[in-house]
Amino acid sequence: RKKIAIVGSGPAGLAAADQLNKMGHFVTVFERSDRIGGLMMYGVPNMKTDKIGVVQRRVNLMAEEGVTFVVNANIGSDPLYSIERLRSENNAVILACGATKPRDLSIPGRQLAGVHFAMEFLHANTKSLLDSNLEDGRYISAKGKKVVVIGGGDTGTDCIGTSVRHGCSSIVNLELLTKPPSKRASDNPWPQWPRVFRVDYGHQEASTKFGNDPRTYEVLTKRFIGDEDGKLKALEVVRVKWEKVDGRFQFKEIEGSQIIEADLVLLAMGFLGPEENIADKLGLEKDNRSNFKAQFGHFGTSVDGVFAAGDCRRGQSLVVWAITEGREAAAAVDKYLSRDEQNVAGLT
Ligand SMILES: Cc1cc2nc3c(=O)[nH]c(=O)nc-3n(C[C@H](O)[C@H](O)[C@H](O)COP(=O)(O)OP(=O)(O)OC[C@H]3O[C@@H](n4cnc5c(N)ncnc54)[C@H](O)[C@@H]3O)c2cc1C
Repeated sequence: RKKIAIVGSGPAGLAAADQLNKMGHFVTVFERSDRIGGLMMYGVPNMKTDKIGVVQRRVNLMAEEGVTFVVNANIGSDPLYSIERLRSENNAVILACGATKPRDLSIPGRQLAGVHFAMEFLHANTKSLLDSNLEDGRYISAKGKKVVVIGGGDTGTDCIGTSVRHGCSSIVNLELLTKPPSKRASDNPWPQWPRVFRVDYGHQEASTKFGNDPRTYEVLTKRFIGDEDGKLKALEVVRVKWEKVDGRFQFKEIEGSQIIEADLVLLAMGFLGPEENIADKLGLEKDNRSNFKAQFGHFGTSVDGVFAAGDCRRGQSLVVWAITEGREAAAAVDKYLSRDEQNVAGLT
């Protein structure tokens, strides 16, 4: 019967909330977006995870079971939802705010109209879909556009799949790294994640529509080129070659550049950990990858009573890991909150 605040409603926050609620605590989940679900709501597109039938259904069940959800609550920025208030009104806080800082490309032309972060594109698309079945026009449309997605990975694939569904006129996916091998390399043994070439739904759909896989490897973007109105019209790219120097892989640019026409560029080059605001306000220690520092299995941060779970602790990862971390952090919080009772009973 303790009070716990959870910041962020992605799979980590929801898994923690579910478990702590079932243990008999009073749980409030604070989310800065207008809908609950984190990247499962606004990130992973609807064709991959049904928002109403899967995500919202689960959220409704949890609300019926007693979890309190507060949306449009930007913890640490909105004066109504200060960190101090959160801590003083709750016995423990779990930070599950994701790794939301996107990696940018600081090259000439970055400011041109038509260059966007992948998440601006994906978030607005799902919001408009849910609000109005894409009728309100409040999203970045790829219809009839030449689209270039920079960066592979799940985010890049989802940008490709969404652009194809919008009706883009062409799609190119640029990747700086080398093409992965078709089978595990000898330096990538089990139980490591197999780094092999995969064909995901976005690649398949682009191939079906345009006749070829959209991916090109070992390409570096040098600059974005705009027209006189400041609108993107092309990219200048160079080929690179990767080689091992003193045991570390480095790339070398190959002479000669190439121009790729584009009306829309989507930057999907990964994420650089959680935003700083909450950590700075709490004076919380970060690890050397700028994630919230908390040991796996313990999940307590450097600030007493504040725990961290999911992508904000381990960096951008997978839903299964977020759920695992949420559950384990819930167990750690319950143990932390029971310490007084255990002390009284001599059970420490
Ligand atoms: C485009 C894309 C596609 C992906 N596809 C897959 C996939 O196919 N399979 C897979 O397993 N994984 C996939 N992932 C990764 C997966 O979605 C994440 O690993 C997972 O959602 C992380 O869960 P989380 O709860 O830690 O954080 P998130 O899901 O990121 O949720 C964090 C929440 O915290 C909120 N928040 C942040 N700061 C504050 C604040 N100050 N106040 C209040 N709320 C705040 C955010 O708005 C967000 O809703 C994908 C990721 C992306 C970006």
